Amino acid sequence: MSGTKTNLAFKITNWCNLQCRHCCENSGPSQSPRLMSLDKMKKYLDEFNALPIEKYDSLVFTGGEVMAPYYHGEQKYIPECLKMAIDANMLPILKTNGIWGNDKALKDKIFYDIESVAYNTGKLIAMDISVDRFHNNLGAVANIINDVVRDSELGFCLALTIQGIHKNSTHAVYDLYSALLTHGIRPYSRTRQDDSILLTDGQSLYPLYYNFKQSVANTGRARANKLGMFELTGKADVYGDCVMIDSNDVLRLNNVRGSAIHNRPIGEVIQQLKNKEKQH
Ligand code: SF4
Repeated sequence: MSGTKTNLAFKITNWCNLQCRHCCENSGPSQSPRLMSLDKMKKYLDEFNALPIEKYDSLVFTGGEVMAPYYHGEQKYIPECLKMAIDANMLPILKTNGIWGNDKALKDKIFYDIESVAYNTGKLIAMDISVDRFHNNLGAVANIINDVVRDSELGFCLALTIQGIHKNSTHAVYDLYSALLTHGIRPYSRTRQDDSILLTDGQSLYPLYYNFKQSVANTGRARANKLGMFELTGKADVYGDCVMIDSNDVLRLNNVRGSAIHNRPIGEVIQQLKNKEKQH
């Protein structure tokens, strides 16, 4: 196999604290909180990394809600996921709806875990928060951004990207600005020219978001936060192939075609799905 780069994601659960009308992940609060086993994840990760294909150097963890383990007493699960990705020399990316930003105790716990893993390993951790009109999470997101901006250690180790705000959703941009203003954080005026959102607390500037004028699919992902050193790494959604494996051992290619991978090499399944995709 060769050619297009491939990105790997694990869908760790179908449980979610929201029930969005547009959800295409079969997720919600009534779904089982069962989590994908870490052993299984490691097995698939090793298999994926051994494939002779071009790959992105990031590993996405998604759901449902990726922070589900914290809601269900599995406090060590997310740190283990992060370490697993870092051990494989991959940037861990947590995709979340960020609702936990409204729960101070939970937010503190999540950030403590992220900082601990980042500092113990010396590696960056990325988080993508999805904002849209169904999530109603701008206040929670503002709380999260506030912590990242105010806490220099957290800001150093967590690359935060806000996804879902784009040229067709300026109302959400201004609602987010309003929510941030309640924390004393405001957008910096050069934002538009730079094609990204810069925030200031009156003293420093914090770039948190990229390609404001592009559609959501072109949203870039910060490689680092607060200290500069940015490059776009969010191209997998646009230019690459996305392989997602869920806890039922189903592998999906580009969110469309899926196939069970029980006792089958995942390279074979990916190739088969790619072939099918070409035929359509
Ligand atoms: S937050 Fe995401 S996974 Fe959860 S219900 Fe909404 S769209 Fe589905």
